[in-house]
Amino acid sequence: MQPHEPQPHRTGPHVDPYGWAQAQDAPYGSPPPYPTPQQYGPYPGAPVPPNVPPTQQPRGLSPFGMPARHSWEIPMLIVVVLLTVLAYAFALLLLILGNFFNQYVLILVSAPLLIWLGRGMLYSTQRVNGVKMSPTQFPEGYQMVVEAAARFGMTKVPDAYVVLGNGQINAFASGHGFRRFVAVYSDLFEIGGAAREPDALAFIIGHEVGHIAAGHASYWRQLGMFLVPFLPLIGNSLIRAQEYTADNHGYCNRHTGAPAAMGTLAAGKYLNTLVGFDEMADRAALEKGFFVWVVNAMSSHPVLTWRMWALRDRSRHGKLWLRPSPPSGAVPTGYPTGYQAPALPPKPVP
Ligand SMILES: [Zn+2]
Repeated sequence: MQPHEPQPHRTGPHVDPYGWAQAQDAPYGSPPPYPTPQQYGPYPGAPVPPNVPPTQQPRGLSPFGMPARHSWEIPMLIVVVLLTVLAYAFALLLLILGNFFNQYVLILVSAPLLIWLGRGMLYSTQRVNGVKMSPTQFPEGYQMVVEAAARFGMTKVPDAYVVLGNGQINAFASGHGFRRFVAVYSDLFEIGGAAREPDALAFIIGHEVGHIAAGHASYWRQLGMFLVPFLPLIGNSLIRAQEYTADNHGYCNRHTGAPAAMGTLAAGKYLNTLVGFDEMADRAALEKGFFVWVVNAMSSHPVLTWRMWALRDRSRHGKLWLRPSPPSGAVPTGYPTGYQAPALPPKPVP
């Protein structure tokens, strides 16, 4: 048999000479799952190929390829939609059969109308008050929106508006009917422009266009998630998963902008580049305790340190409930735990 001839089918326990199977779920810190030089080579003395570790990165978390949805988004969406449908049917039943009437029943039953009205109003507010990006108005921002839509394979470029931020750092994506749009608050939009942090703005725009690409801005999606404000734990977790999904889009669109974008959310548009991205991300694993858990669990966005951690560790999806932990044996950088100031040099004696 020649060295490269396919091996006949073997029965019995699966033999995995190269260790690929264990590579799937090897914990951090375990011996490298890729073949060592001794395992290579069809016969003794064969030339040994370079020992290159296989890429362990899950699809969609690297800057290449299509961005991934957070692994918990769809399972939680199914639960939330089922609960919403049940509650809606129950409210309808109460109203029709039981002649039962209170404000919650009324809100639930009129949810399809309320969402339609809210979306129509929100879209029209941008249409009449927002500064619409175009090839001649904020062309750099417009170009970023067009590029992000192309990056995510969208057939239609969403409208994009700059709206007055009054000091607030925010952006959002929504739609009405078949139309979709993103709005960026002026104070956040200011970080763009060649003289400042255009990469950070491209990340933010990628994040917002990503919400649209991932279907978060659809009417049916929002109707199915109507119960979210009444489901504090799973509702917020679903929203956080969506934010991680949108961050994956932002990262795919312009991964170099992630640190300055997060720096802007943490410290504003003037101090953004002074925020130590690694130092702050490291604190995700170091800040512990019950109330840290509570603050994250009740947040609509992942807490910033965890979000930064997820944008830095692209080997897994962002954490929803439990704080991220560093690989075993890793020493956090930049956060001086147990730090001792170096002794001052002796004063020169005159
Ligand atoms: Zn978002």
